[in-house]
Amino acid sequence: MNHRTEVCRKSARTRRTVTECVAALCAWLFLAASPLFAQSPVSGPGIPPNTPPNRPLTAAPPQPGGTAALAQEAQGWLIDLIKMNTSNPPGGEAPAAKYVAAVLQKEGLTPEILEVTPGRSAVVARLRSTAVADPSKALLLVAHLDVVPADKTRWSVDPFGGVVKDGYIYGRGAIDDKGMLAANLAAFIALKRSAAHLNRDVIFLATADEETGGDASIRVLALKYWDRFAAGFAINEGGNVFIKNGKVQYIGLQASEKVSANITVIARGPAGHASQPTKDNAVVHLATAVSKIGNYNAPVRFTTIVRRYFEGLAPLEDDEISKWMRSLDTPDRGEHAQRVISDASPLWNSMLRDTIAPTMLNAGTARNVIPGEARANLNVRLLPGDTINTVVDDLNKLVSDPMVRLEVLSNAGLAAPDSSLENDFYATIARIATREFGGAPTLPFQSTWATDSSQLRLHNVQAYGLVPFPLSDEDLKRMHGDDERLAVAAFAKGVDVMTKIVAEFAGTR
Ligand SMILES: [Zn+2]
Repeated sequence: MNHRTEVCRKSARTRRTVTECVAALCAWLFLAASPLFAQSPVSGPGIPPNTPPNRPLTAAPPQPGGTAALAQEAQGWLIDLIKMNTSNPPGGEAPAAKYVAAVLQKEGLTPEILEVTPGRSAVVARLRSTAVADPSKALLLVAHLDVVPADKTRWSVDPFGGVVKDGYIYGRGAIDDKGMLAANLAAFIALKRSAAHLNRDVIFLATADEETGGDASIRVLALKYWDRFAAGFAINEGGNVFIKNGKVQYIGLQASEKVSANITVIARGPAGHASQPTKDNAVVHLATAVSKIGNYNAPVRFTTIVRRYFEGLAPLEDDEISKWMRSLDTPDRGEHAQRVISDASPLWNSMLRDTIAPTMLNAGTARNVIPGEARANLNVRLLPGDTINTVVDDLNKLVSDPMVRLEVLSNAGLAAPDSSLENDFYATIARIATREFGGAPTLPFQSTWATDSSQLRLHNVQAYGLVPFPLSDEDLKRMHGDDERLAVAAFAKGVDVMTKIVAEFAGTR
């Protein structure tokens, strides 16, 4: 069969049969759960050891490497990628794309570099299961090549130095998203090396321009090259393995995300001499409007995913928080519960409602001139299904000032349908994550941030978000901040988990 030429490596003398391929994958999967893997460097604060063996190690011949060696190798790729400065803007992802393509090529794969705009490219590679692709079954592994900029003066190490120190890999992108890129690459290459028989195509994709969602982003990539990565299922960033009090509390598996939009607040009044101020000063009217908006809470609305998230989380929290989580949607205590839960965590607050964050102010040209105009930017995060026009109407009522006008910017994200919580892929990820992270529950997660997955969901892909590394709040805060870092042990664990997810979902057993 044709597919074996892609999926199974041919030896010089013989081509492996289907049975041999299946046996090899089984052995490989078995090994992935064997005590050999427990030797991988995955113990660390909050990181459970790999699965204990659930059957004796007998039939499976030892496979050279295992994920410990693979994680070592992948750590090398991660460090190399951190050293390539892909700060966006301007991005400049082409060299990183070339690097990833070279890693894939070395494995005998045939990656393709997809240029989106000059100097900005994505990389795609495919492991085939059949001669004729069935996109509705294909599994897509997605991560992005670009990173947010870093202010070197605020870091304790060079953000683009690829420094490994005190058990951590430091660098911009260590978590977001080069860590996941390296883990995806490892899982994809492990599948190729296992010569496994696949039940679906597996596609590796590294995208550009995720952080600004501009002209080189997956939106444009999909317009130009959709056929190269059309898939039924995808795994991407978006969800996390949350550590609390030194152990994994839960796995948040992203199946939906909020939608970003921006509003400009414009106050206009007469310009004039600062020595004779009047009450119709545009700066004052803008400041009053922004202050009202900053103190405003949009109404709470429960989406299906958020409801299930809080139901799952309540038993894991302390008694007080647990009590209020359980009361969130009750007629008598709901309102108070919503206030308590919103005050307890900015993440929970943002999961429950549309949020509006003033982010930029702009007014004035000289110290002694009252300007005729003052502007502010509001970054809005909408619950899926909510519309920006409703928010504008509510804010207009709140501000209620004829000198102030709200204008919606045209760069809003697109609302995508949720991914299903009922299909095989969701179940596979949840089962493996819970098993591998010490029995911590996997909860459906609606991220307050945006990812490439919304574009995939708009193309009918069942996309799920899970950065497979166990992370504490402290780690997560560094993500777009200073001294971003990823524990070596967490990275190795993530490589192991991602490898198992991909092998179990795409391999024939
Ligand atoms: Zn990211």
